[in-house]
Amino acid sequence: MSTAEPWAVVGLDNGGTTNNATVLDASGRFLVDRMVESPSLVREGPDVAVGALVRTLDDILDRTGTPRSAVRAVGLDTPGPASADGVISSKGSTNFSHDAWRGFDVRGALEARVGLPVVYNNDANAAALYAHYLHFGPDAATRSSVSAIVGTGLGGGVVEDGRVVRGAAGMAGELGHVHVPMPGLLADDQPLPRCNCGFSGDAESVASLTGIERNLLPYWLTRFPDHPLAREGTPGDAAKLVRSYGEQGDPLARHIFAQQAMALGRLFTILSNVTDPHVYFVGGGVVEAAPEFRAWFMQAVRTHTSLREEQAHVATFALVPDLDMAGARGAAVAAMETLAPASVEIVT
Ligand SMILES: [Zn+2]
Repeated sequence: MSTAEPWAVVGLDNGGTTNNATVLDASGRFLVDRMVESPSLVREGPDVAVGALVRTLDDILDRTGTPRSAVRAVGLDTPGPASADGVISSKGSTNFSHDAWRGFDVRGALEARVGLPVVYNNDANAAALYAHYLHFGPDAATRSSVSAIVGTGLGGGVVEDGRVVRGAAGMAGELGHVHVPMPGLLADDQPLPRCNCGFSGDAESVASLTGIERNLLPYWLTRFPDHPLAREGTPGDAAKLVRSYGEQGDPLARHIFAQQAMALGRLFTILSNVTDPHVYFVGGGVVEAAPEFRAWFMQAVRTHTSLREEQAHVATFALVPDLDMAGARGAAVAAMETLAPASVEIVT
């Protein structure tokens, strides 16, 4: 490829309500340092939403003074579930509730509209890729990492030699639905937690906001019946407040987050025997909290990750940085990586 002309890739992060966009130039610099959001219109169906993505693309090129002719590829990420090449699940999903989304090829549709190669990742994989490239810099293409991102669900990503592990059906790295051992994690009389996916006792059934709402909080409120959260409106409202209680050292909240940290540690222990990564990343609201709480949580994750001595010497634990921007940035890194394999280096 010619290096004489300046060129760039665009990253588009498609979410349930908004799109966020960024531009990554050939030297590894992001041309925007903050969120640039616009409505995603996904509830209005794929035709309208793909149009919104095209406008998001044109807008970010305008804002950064990037000519369309300089763009060589577009990275796109959306919430899952979707195939590795961007076909939304035929069973539908929370974010893509409009019927026309079922089985819709969002990557192909955007590619046809913009006339540029579009590279697809789910949002957790995009964030994992960004964390990886930012952390490793020039060594990114020769390092491995795993990322667990605690949100409504538990998003995951596995990166090997700088590339997202996708799997045969595009379902690799779904760390939330890996079963973790529950003995010693649950209290003696605590029911086995259930996940949306149909499993019981997987990582997401504990380490997610949904896990707090459906599984952990209902149990711990039986142990702390006078807790103020017992009087909160809906279980969803109460679940969202648990973190602020945790930051204040509240015992009920700390029991809940101790169980989440243990679930993540046990998940990482499994992964240490699968890909044996250089870095274990943790992201999401739980680590975007007060510093004391974050340090306590990360230490608990480490404590419950059983590494062999040789692994402990080389492995580190780190946070997924800039989580709000990580999807768009990771999508851009993925696009750049397909154009210039093994030579992408993020400059900060
Ligand atoms: Zn699950």
